[in-house]
Amino acid sequence: MRSIGMDCLIHIKNPIFKTIATVAQELNLPCYVVGGYVRDVILGRECKDIDFVVVGDGTLLASKVAAKIDKNLKVNIFKTYGTAMFKYQDLDLEFVGARKESYSAHSRNPEVVAGTLHDDQNRRDFTINAMAISLNAANYGELVDPFNGLEMIAQKKLITPLDPSVTFSDDPLRMMRAIRFATQLNFTIDANCIEAIHKYKERISIISKERITDELNKIIASKTPSVGFKLLFDTGLLKLIFPLMANLHGVDVIKGKAHKDNFYHTLEVLDNICKTTDNLWLRWAAILHDIAKPHTKRFEEGTGWTFHGHEDKGARLVPKIFNELKLPLNEKMKYVQKLVLLHLRPIVLSKETITDSALRRLLFEAGDDIDDLMLLCEADITTKNEFKKEKHLANFELVKVKLKEVEEKDNLRNWQPPISGEDIMKIFNLKPSKEIGLIKNAIREAILEGEIGNNVEDAKKFMFDFAKELGLQPA
Ligand code: ATP
Repeated sequence: MRSIGMDCLIHIKNPIFKTIATVAQELNLPCYVVGGYVRDVILGRECKDIDFVVVGDGTLLASKVAAKIDKNLKVNIFKTYGTAMFKYQDLDLEFVGARKESYSAHSRNPEVVAGTLHDDQNRRDFTINAMAISLNAANYGELVDPFNGLEMIAQKKLITPLDPSVTFSDDPLRMMRAIRFATQLNFTIDANCIEAIHKYKERISIISKERITDELNKIIASKTPSVGFKLLFDTGLLKLIFPLMANLHGVDVIKGKAHKDNFYHTLEVLDNICKTTDNLWLRWAAILHDIAKPHTKRFEEGTGWTFHGHEDKGARLVPKIFNELKLPLNEKMKYVQKLVLLHLRPIVLSKETITDSALRRLLFEAGDDIDDLMLLCEADITTKNEFKKEKHLANFELVKVKLKEVEEKDNLRNWQPPISGEDIMKIFNLKPSKEIGLIKNAIREAILEGEIGNNVEDAKKFMFDFAKELGLQPA
């Protein structure tokens, strides 16, 4: 046993540990801080969730501790799991009785019986997550580290306490967790564990989509998500959990012409965007921006490889992907869809002489997401040729300047029609009819083309002329 735990507890200087220790002693219930919190304190990472394992009734200890802090403190007790939780300051404290688990082949939910601290440490996924710090009078602050997790932290290595085949086959979510921790902490996964993930990857099918996506999102939210995606791909898990992304992998060569590997390109774009944003959904847009390239890939004589329409097809795939991965089917999905659809537009603009009407159309379609779209486009520059990279970036700077000019002039970011359908019906005494749509579209087109200004006066004048052509007279 090592006493680094004591240093950790002193380091965090929170009196809650002493309070818990006192109550635990009064109740004669051995109690330990365990799992992710111990790992994170040693790693110097912030952690707001603290798990306590109690040899005995964890819910009783939680209730008594809460009552000692504040009689009105609400404790959530989950009888079925034998757990109790309450909030203290900005911390989430969870108490559970030490347990021993045994698994069956078809479920990741084990049979649970009361056990010792050691049984409880045995059931944990990785040795770095299996350390405990004693809160007991005899050895307060001591680290209980039966699998040498401390050494694995020093070596930055993920390894399972038990045989990895058993660990991963029992609860296949742990395969995702291994890759997630490797990505978040920049640790390597032990070779035997990698081999076991290869071997048991198909068992991921017993895990709910929500849980898998939860881990995927944690990978995506980390500093360098490509680490996780490469591991997912290399172990064969990606093909099972997100086949469309795995399909991006590979290079075809015809007549000596190869296209780039869209999987590794996507990962570069993803890592790039992570340097500029924490927005999970913008990161998802980076993942999905080229998702339809395999669907649209053609070899054209004289031109080489083309992916015409991949942005459009990709945008149409977004709802399907969100649905399959149980991601939210709400405005977040629409945002991702919009960015996928528009991701080539600033590139086209930067290559041509930029017309105001093209800029207006882009502003109109992107709305408030224009800045995020430009970030995505910049992240999409993955050329290793520094000269080309600088050139593309300079072109985008120009597009941004021009967008700003047009925006200031025409105020199109969150465009609202200067004349509403209701107004049109009143002015021409019309019932709801296709003429109203025609007039509204014509006004919008005239504004976007720059034929008239984005104001009520210009729009009215234009509307009367246009309506006349339709044979309509004001009432
Ligand atoms: P994070 O808070 O970043 O999601 P964590 O490991 O700190 O990760 P939890 O997922 O709440 O937090 O898990 C707490 C502890 O419970 C872990 O450190 C580990 O000891 C154990 N644990 C969690 N999930 C599993 C699992 N699927 N198999 C085995 N042990 C697990």
